[in-house]
Amino acid sequence: MTSTARRDHAALARRRVVVVGAGVVGACVAARIAERGADVVLLAAEPAGSTEASRASFAWVNDHGKEPASYRRLNADGRRRHAERSAAHDIPWFIRTGAEIDGVLYPDDGYVDTAAFLAAQLADLRSAGGTVRDATPVASLEHLRGLVGPADLIVVAAGTGTAALVAAVSPRVQRLSSSAGDDGFLARIEVDGHPIDRIRSVAGLQVRPDGDGRIAAQSLRIEADLRDAGVTASVDTVWPALRDEIEHALGWRVPAAARVRVDHAARPHAADGMPLVGAVADDVYVALTHSGVTLAPLLGELIARDLDGDADPRLVPLRP
Ligand SMILES: Cc1cc2nc3c(=O)[nH]c(=O)nc-3n(C[C@H](O)[C@H](O)[C@H](O)COP(=O)(O)OP(=O)(O)OC[C@H]3O[C@@H](n4cnc5c(N)ncnc54)[C@H](O)[C@@H]3O)c2cc1C
Repeated sequence: MTSTARRDHAALARRRVVVVGAGVVGACVAARIAERGADVVLLAAEPAGSTEASRASFAWVNDHGKEPASYRRLNADGRRRHAERSAAHDIPWFIRTGAEIDGVLYPDDGYVDTAAFLAAQLADLRSAGGTVRDATPVASLEHLRGLVGPADLIVVAAGTGTAALVAAVSPRVQRLSSSAGDDGFLARIEVDGHPIDRIRSVAGLQVRPDGDGRIAAQSLRIEADLRDAGVTASVDTVWPALRDEIEHALGWRVPAAARVRVDHAARPHAADGMPLVGAVADDVYVALTHSGVTLAPLLGELIARDLDGDADPRLVPLRP
């Protein structure tokens, strides 16, 4: 497969581009390429503005424990672009709270309000003349072409649905043999008053503020227990153990009247767990990644430049 983006994607202006997937990655890519003059249609299976993964994401913008070093730097660059872009937008989405990991403070970290982030990207896309066609699942790229008509380029940013969509056009790309990783969950806990003013990570438990009197929490231990037992995350299966973990780790008694909601989703990533960004056929380009919340604003910019013939070296390790 190509080691750099194919030059025949160059000059986006006036090209008709269909982006499949209106999660954080697809929405950022669609907005940035529309701003470069492409005629963009953003298509998604669900109603635009939310996806399973964006609802279940802890949405911590960070570079901790990411290997190799090039991937860690990419995540650090993503965090910087969140801070800069969010501060300059009418709909800010990045909340810089700092993070405390086992007692050590990382002041630049924060979390993303994914609903606001998606709303901001969709607003940018529409301002640049792009259109959104949501609630439209497609079974294959042939089906897509039949629905939307001729396109110069298709960008597949379909999260866990990516491998199935591109299987027919990229059967030899081993890294696309799957695009769904482990299931995870996010609990949103509404309480009258709480002491959580930053992201806290303690022995596999992660807790953060979530705005409007809520906190959000995930536990890697409970996630693994559910996986081993073949049980799906829900309020009933998660909350009793999660409440114990929070109280034990933070020394804070969760009020009995707490109202809890649990969302779950599989983590999108390539078969080797790493991001995959680049052309898989002459007119098909893929953007698939874990840490998608952290990376989306940066990847949107880099992919738009890539498709305009200006490949950034940071994309080289992510090629198919
Ligand atoms: C539990 C959990 C915790 C996480 N924590 C973090 C974190 O702390 N920090 C971080 O940076 N990242 C985190 N992530 C990862 C991050 O949330 C994801 O990488 C990101 O949300 C993925 O965005 P996406 O746009 O690639 O995919 P998605 O949000 O999954 O969007 C996929 C889109 O493709 C569309 N689609 C799929 N198939 C089809 C089809 N056949 N036809 C039409 N449309 C289709 C869907 O409708 C949807 O619009 C976490 C993820 C999970 C699940």
